[in-house]
Amino acid sequence: MAQFVSPSLIQSYEVFSEKAAVPDMKMLFTENRYRDYNRRKLKNVKEGQMGFAAVDNLIKVVRSGFEKIKDHRAANVSISLTDALMSGFALFALKDSSLLEFDERRAKDENLKQIYKLEQVPSDSQMRTIVDEVDPLEIRPVYQTILNGMEERSILDQMKYMGKYDLLSVDGTEHYNSEKVHCPSCLIRNKRNGVVSYRHQLLGATIVHPDCKAVIPLAPEPIIKQDGQTKNDCEQNAAKRLFAQIRADHPKLPLIVVEDALSPNAPHLRMLKGHNLRFIIGVKEGDHAFLFEQVRAKHKAGESGQWEERAKGITHRFRFINQVPLNESNPDVLVNFLEYWEIKGDEVQHFCWVTDFIRYDWNVLAIMRGGRARWKIENETFNTLKNQGYHFEHNFGHGKLNLAVNFVHLMMLAFLVDQVQQLADALFQAVLKKEGSRKRLWAHMRALFYTLNFSSMADIFKALLYGYTVDQVTILGPA
Ligand SMILES: [Zn+2]
Repeated sequence: MAQFVSPSLIQSYEVFSEKAAVPDMKMLFTENRYRDYNRRKLKNVKEGQMGFAAVDNLIKVVRSGFEKIKDHRAANVSISLTDALMSGFALFALKDSSLLEFDERRAKDENLKQIYKLEQVPSDSQMRTIVDEVDPLEIRPVYQTILNGMEERSILDQMKYMGKYDLLSVDGTEHYNSEKVHCPSCLIRNKRNGVVSYRHQLLGATIVHPDCKAVIPLAPEPIIKQDGQTKNDCEQNAAKRLFAQIRADHPKLPLIVVEDALSPNAPHLRMLKGHNLRFIIGVKEGDHAFLFEQVRAKHKAGESGQWEERAKGITHRFRFINQVPLNESNPDVLVNFLEYWEIKGDEVQHFCWVTDFIRYDWNVLAIMRGGRARWKIENETFNTLKNQGYHFEHNFGHGKLNLAVNFVHLMMLAFLVDQVQQLADALFQAVLKKEGSRKRLWAHMRALFYTLNFSSMADIFKALLYGYTVDQVTILGPA
């Protein structure tokens, strides 16, 4: 039963054809049409298309997205809606630690006007009041425009997985918790001691790749009380809205959803299928006793596939079974089951997933790595937002309507703009490498933004990369 593949082939395992059982492993790994599975490099991107990922272009894309949002206020307002949203975006792009810091920056209006193209710079309270009233759904198209721009220019190609797919890691997190300040959308928890806590959560969705540091967030779905509802919202309802919206925004994006063990119930899998979404989802025996019993019985009967690989002192052991019912009450929902052990001396890690990818000996590695890339939404997305300068859990103001949700959107857009650059912009990559860490880069970027006048954000990055003179700022590097 078990077939052996040499360790050198570990690098080219991203096989994706599912047409039929593959008769000859050797042919599979040598034929050219199956070999081009590794991450395509950016050299595929056509000349002249790279400018899309440049910081000032992305700022322009965000700004023109905001310009399309209709301003429902009276006509004689002094600050435009675009300026208010754009100054909120700048707050997160510059990673200010508080609105006070942002307000002090107004003394340095010139850069906000030059770089973010603000006509009038609002005070922090003006900004909060205006942003509070914006419908969060109106901000979503900005994410869509950026992702479509990356697709059209083949920038997203370097994150393609198993041939043509994008791995979409989905997970929930909390970003607001207070016993005092609240809004009509807050989730409410009555604690045992009589205290009420008010919370905001969100369901994040991020395109990830096991070999790629950058991640590309799609618009997160707020887990908050919905209009007209008295009951708290939950992650499962938010998932229904999230996936419907993703399919509305990106009808053809070939996505593999990777999620943790909370998700694999029958209605959820049916919903994913309904949206034409593939999946690799963690599963635990405690929640799926019936599934694990079936697996054990099939294994005993010799109906399971097994595969083992030893490379660099690590043993990778796989056991897999195709087409088992997910649970007793939904015998029609058949899944393919993959069990994996990573053995490093005495250290053993054990994972189980269900997936709609039919398993062959040769694609278990790719499915395993895709499933394990799920953690990137926690580590590379939520933890980066919390610990790398974005102040994810800091309360910049809660508002009466949508401020808390809109601030999260503006922060996520600032993060998206940074990630697109990290993926595909040579200037950003060079300056990040020189600075050594994102936190250092943000600190130095802020210092220059505060003290000198620049005509673009690229000039700030160039000043950091090549050096500058202070008297009259002169970029020493290439134009
Ligand atoms: Zn609230």
